Amino acid sequence: MNAAVLTIGDELLQGFTIDTNSSWLGTTLLPYNIKISKKVAIGDNLNDIISETQYILNDKFDLLFVTGGLGPTHDDITKEAFRQFLDDELIFDESYYTQLIHHFEKRSIKMPESNRSQAMLLKTADVIPNENGTALGMHILIKDTHTFIMPGVPGEMKSMVKNHILPKYIKKSPVENSITIKTAGIMESHLAEKVNGLMENYSHSYRYAFLPHYSGVSFRINKLNKIDNLQDVKDEFYKAMLPYAYGINNDTLEKVLGLKLIKNNYTIATAESCTGGLIGKRLTDTAGSSEYFLGSVTAYSNQLKSSLLNIPNDIINTLGAVNEEVALKMAKGVRAKTGADIGISTTGISGPEGGTKTKPVGLVYIGVVTPEKSMVKKYNFNYGRHIHREMTTTAALNITRLAIEKN
Ligand code: AMP
Ligand code: MG
Repeated sequence: MNAAVLTIGDELLQGFTIDTNSSWLGTTLLPYNIKISKKVAIGDNLNDIISETQYILNDKFDLLFVTGGLGPTHDDITKEAFRQFLDDELIFDESYYTQLIHHFEKRSIKMPESNRSQAMLLKTADVIPNENGTALGMHILIKDTHTFIMPGVPGEMKSMVKNHILPKYIKKSPVENSITIKTAGIMESHLAEKVNGLMENYSHSYRYAFLPHYSGVSFRINKLNKIDNLQDVKDEFYKAMLPYAYGINNDTLEKVLGLKLIKNNYTIATAESCTGGLIGKRLTDTAGSSEYFLGSVTAYSNQLKSSLLNIPNDIINTLGAVNEEVALKMAKGVRAKTGADIGISTTGISGPEGGTKTKPVGLVYIGVVTPEKSMVKKYNFNYGRHIHREMTTTAALNITRLAIEKN
C-alpha cells in the first residue's frame, strides 16, 4: 500500500517542533507493507490544508495520514478545513461532550468553553478514539483514499495508529522486512571491508545501508522479496562483524552491557571526570540497572580526584590529571571505594579550551579495571565538547563490554 503523510502546524515549519510523527509512521507502517512515498508539512492555514489535501488525493494514494491542528485553540483548524473540502457538516456529539466534562471533573478542573469544539465531529467520518487525550481522530474514505485525521501530540497519534487504525483498517500481521545490526568501536569503512564479500553474495535479494553515528555504526539489511530468510542472513553478517556487533534493532550498548554484567554476577561503578556523569546516566537509562550499577563519583576537580579516589597529589602535580596513570588509578580508586567488581574511569580534554601541544583538545584516557584485568585506552575525539563526551561514554561502555566478553 502506498501512503502519504500531511503534517500540520506552524511550529513544524519554524523549527520549534521537530516532525517526529512522520518518521514514526514511516518505520511503524513498513512491516505492514505500507510505504510512505510522500510527506508534506504545512502551517496552520485553511487554504493550504485544503489545497495540499487535494494534491495528495489527485495522486491516488491508498492511505493518507494527517496529523495536527485538532486542539481546542484558534489555530486548530484541520476539522474546519476538511469540512469545507468535503462540503461536510460538523455535528455536535452530545455523549462525547458529557465524557469530556467528566474527564475534566476527574482532574478537578473546570472544562474551558473552547474544549466544546472537540465534541464537534465531521458527519461523514468514523471516530477514532483517543486514549491519551481529548481530541478524537477521524477516518474518512475520500474517493479511494482512506484518510486518517489525528492529533499532533505524538503519544496520542501513536496510540490511535497502534490500537485502532492498524487493527480496524489495515487488518494485517506485521512482517519484518529489515533488520539493523548495531556496532561500536569500528569506523564505517572498516566495517564495510569486513562484509563486502557477504554483501556481494546476497546482492540479488537484499539491500544494505551503513548508518554512521558518533555512538557507533548501524548496518541495515532490507530484504527485497518475501521468501528470503532475513534471520539467517543477519546471523552471517553479525558473525562477520564481531566483536564490534553488539545487538540488533533497538538494543543499546548499555542494555547489552547490563545483561553481561548480570550474567557474570558483576557490579560496576564509574569515576568520571570529562564525562561528568554521562556513563552513569547511560547505565541508568536501562530499567533494572540497580542490579549491577552501584554509582558514580563525578570527580571533576583535582581535589576530588585525590580526596575521593585516592589519586596521590604528587602524580597530578607532576603529570597533570589527563594521563594513563591517573585514569588507571581513578578506575581502581572507585572500585576500592565502592566495592564494585568493575571500575570505569574517564579523564580527558573536552575543549574548546584547555588543550596544549602535548595534550590537545579531544585527548581522553579511559580506564577499565575488572577482577581479571586492568587497561587504559587512549583516544582523540576532537569533534566538539558535546560529541567528545558522547564518544568517550560509548567507548567506555564498549571497552567494558569487550573486557567482560573475552572472559
Ligand atoms: P496540535 O494537534 O496541532 O494541537 O499539536 C499538539 C502538539 O503536538 C504540539 O505541541 C505540537 O508541537 C506537537 N506536534 C504537532 N505535530 C507534530 C509532529 N508532526 N511531530 C511531532 N510533534 C508534533
Ligand atoms: Mg497545532
